[in-house]
Amino acid sequence: MLKMQTPQEQLVEIMKRIYAQGMTTTSGGNLSIKDTDGNIYITPGGTDKGSMTVEDIVCIHPDGRIEGKHKPSSEYPFHMKIYEVRDDIKAILHAHPPAMVAYSIVRKIPDITVFPGMEQCIGSVGMAEYGLTGSEELGDKIGKVFAGGKDVAELENHGLVVGSGDILTAYHKFEAMDFCARIGIGASRLKGFIADKEKKTAFVLKNDVLETKEKEKPEHQALCKKLCDMVQRAYHQKLFYAGLGNISVRAEDGTVYYIPEGTDQKNVSLQDVRCMDVKGEGIHAAIYRMHPEINAVITAFPPELMAFAVTGTKFSSRIIPEIYMVMQDVISVPYSAWNGEPEKLAEQFDERTSVAILEQQGIIVTAPSLLKAYDRLEVAEYSASAIIKAQQLGGIIEITETQVEDIKRQCHLH
Ligand SMILES: [Zn+2]
Repeated sequence: MLKMQTPQEQLVEIMKRIYAQGMTTTSGGNLSIKDTDGNIYITPGGTDKGSMTVEDIVCIHPDGRIEGKHKPSSEYPFHMKIYEVRDDIKAILHAHPPAMVAYSIVRKIPDITVFPGMEQCIGSVGMAEYGLTGSEELGDKIGKVFAGGKDVAELENHGLVVGSGDILTAYHKFEAMDFCARIGIGASRLKGFIADKEKKTAFVLKNDVLETKEKEKPEHQALCKKLCDMVQRAYHQKLFYAGLGNISVRAEDGTVYYIPEGTDQKNVSLQDVRCMDVKGEGIHAAIYRMHPEINAVITAFPPELMAFAVTGTKFSSRIIPEIYMVMQDVISVPYSAWNGEPEKLAEQFDERTSVAILEQQGIIVTAPSLLKAYDRLEVAEYSASAIIKAQQLGGIIEITETQVEDIKRQCHLH
C-alpha cells in the first residue's frame, strides 16, 4: 500500500503512526526518504507531528537546494551522513520512544534475541556515542555505526535511529526494537531472563502454515472481513506489531482462513487473506486437527505477557473474577514439553485451557470463536500488565480455591 504513495505521503503516514503508537511526542522524531534521483524528503523541524500534511515535508536536492515551506529537521545532518555511507539505505526513521529512551539513558541495548524470530526482524544493533542533537559530530558518530553494516543505532542519552531500503521495513524494525525494550523492562520487574542457553536452538514460532490454492469463498466474505478487523484491532491495541503474530479462523464448513506473517497489520485487507491447509505442519493446523471445538487460534508476542514468557514467571489468572471467567487457568509451557513439535503443543489445550504462555517463544490463544479468542488475548495481556505493576506494590493475594470453584459454578465452567 505504501509503495503506491509519494515519499511525502509515506512520511506523513509513518509519522502519524509513530505518534499514534506512543513512540514520539508532538515535537520529537524525524523521518526521511531518498528517491532514485538522490532527492531527500525529510520531515520539518519544530512542527506538530500529530497533524503533519504532505505540504509540510521538505525536499533537499542533490545540489543542496532546499525546497519547502519549513526548515528541514534540525537533526538532518545524521540523515545525510547515513545516506552518504550507505548506498542501500533509502529510508531513515528516528524518534525517542519512552522504553527505548530508558535503555539509552542506562546505555544498554535491549536483548533482541528475546524470542526466536525477533533478531531476524531487527538485524544487528550498534550503540552511537553521545553527541549534541543536530550536530555534525553526532552525525559522524551515527554514521560510523551504519558504516559498520548495522541498520539500527541506539543513541546514548537520546533515542533510536533505523535505516532500511524502504520506510515500512524501517518502521517495522523500529517498532520491534521498541517492543524488545518494553519486554525487557517488564522482564526486569519480574525475575529477569531465563539463562539463554535454550534460546539459541528454540523453534521460531512463526506462521509456518501451508497455504492451499483455494480462494476465499463468497459466503465467507463477512468472516474474512472480521478476521481483517481483528488483526487491525490487535495492532491498535499493541498486541501485534512489526508484522509478527497472526490470527486464524475456521468457518463452519472447515475452511481455515489466516493472514500470513509479515503482512502490515495496520493496513491489512481482504486481499491478504489466505486459506490454510489444515493437513499442514503449522501449530494452528495441528490445533484445528486435534480440537473440533476450537475455531480461532492466535499466535502473538504482546510485551507484558512476553515478560512472563522470557522470565519463566508463573502467570496467575486468579486475580479478579472477570479475568478467570474469560480464560480460566493460563498454562506455562516450557520448550522441553513440546520441542517444536506442533502436535505436542496442540495436546496442551483442552476445554479448560485456552491460553498458553510458551516459555521464551510466544503466546497461543484458542477459542470457539474469533471474538472470544481476541478477548482472551486482550484480557491476558491486561492481566499481565496488572501483575507486573503490582510487583512494586506488594505481594499479590490470589483468589482462593473455594472462590474459584464458586466462579466455575456460577459461569458453568469446566
Ligand atoms: Zn532526536
